[in-house]
Amino acid sequence: MVPVGRFFGVPVYFAPSWLIIAALLTIYYGPIVRDAVPGVSDSTAYLVAFAYAVLFALCVVAHELGHTAVSLALGTPVRRVVIFLLGGVSEIERDPQRPRDEFLVAAAGPLVSIVLTGLAALGYQFIDHATILGVLLALLLWSNLVVAVFNLLPGLPLDGGRLLRAAVWTIARSRLTGTRAAAWTGRAVAVAVAVSGLVADRTSWGYTAGLLSIALAAYLWFGAGQSLRAGELLERLPALNLLELLRPGLFVPPDLSVAEALRRAWSGNARGLVLVDSAARPQAIVDEVMIGSVPPERRPWTSLVEVARPLEPGLVLTLGLSGEDLLAAVRATPAHEYLVVNEDGSPAGILAVTDLAATLSGST
Ligand SMILES: [Zn+2]
Repeated sequence: MVPVGRFFGVPVYFAPSWLIIAALLTIYYGPIVRDAVPGVSDSTAYLVAFAYAVLFALCVVAHELGHTAVSLALGTPVRRVVIFLLGGVSEIERDPQRPRDEFLVAAAGPLVSIVLTGLAALGYQFIDHATILGVLLALLLWSNLVVAVFNLLPGLPLDGGRLLRAAVWTIARSRLTGTRAAAWTGRAVAVAVAVSGLVADRTSWGYTAGLLSIALAAYLWFGAGQSLRAGELLERLPALNLLELLRPGLFVPPDLSVAEALRRAWSGNARGLVLVDSAARPQAIVDEVMIGSVPPERRPWTSLVEVARPLEPGLVLTLGLSGEDLLAAVRATPAHEYLVVNEDGSPAGILAVTDLAATLSGST
């Protein structure tokens, strides 16, 4: 990833795969520029085509910054903007909480592309068409128009899919219903893009365009599925409560053997082990996966310390965390188990990620 700058405090990156599309555009448009501008040399024509590829990428950056600016104005942080082979993406921290916000963030990108189309069209009126600037304006006019129209196709993960979701969300008063509708139309858009790639003409450029269409279709298909899963997860989040997920923990000295610790845990009905120091302060938490991998014959000779993870700050969660905050805390420090403490810092129990995952997948 190559950083190209920060806008509104959000870093913008170019992925290496962007070079592929830049090279294809340069090779494809070089001869077109040469034919359109009388007296231009081959090398200049390819240079102009490459300049077009860069300017087009900057237009895609502007489109993404439209999403980013509105998202920031509505109080939702944006992690970064990435430009890659198939376009650009604004990585917004969390999905909008209201259909109005969803609508505004989604509409801002295509609006920027439409404005850029208009500006290119305006400039084109006043420029001799058979010049380098004239050809560049014509190319930017058409490519921004394509970006605007394509992104407005009504299926997730495209902007048009987000607009559709916002509309259905408003009417049905359910975000999940909106997500489901826009994810299915998103898959329909993906199929249509794939079919257009398959029926592309069979010249060498037809194959390249066909391959790109199929890559785009796959990207859209998986993007639609991902949006659907994220939407379903979001529905379950408010119900996520640390108190209900709590396992009773057993607090043991670190010099215990694995065999003895397991015996005490089973007889005491505990489902998690925390190592404490001589002052009964929690020091480490036993990893269920690691303790389970100790063969039975070695358990009397293996110390608990060997299967425990020292308690770094991220492994201690405070009771009262719920929903998206709880998920964010677990994502920040991935582990199998966490020590849960009361507001006053006293131990309350153990959170096992398997329990969290079971709740999120709806199996409990
Ligand atoms: Zn967009």
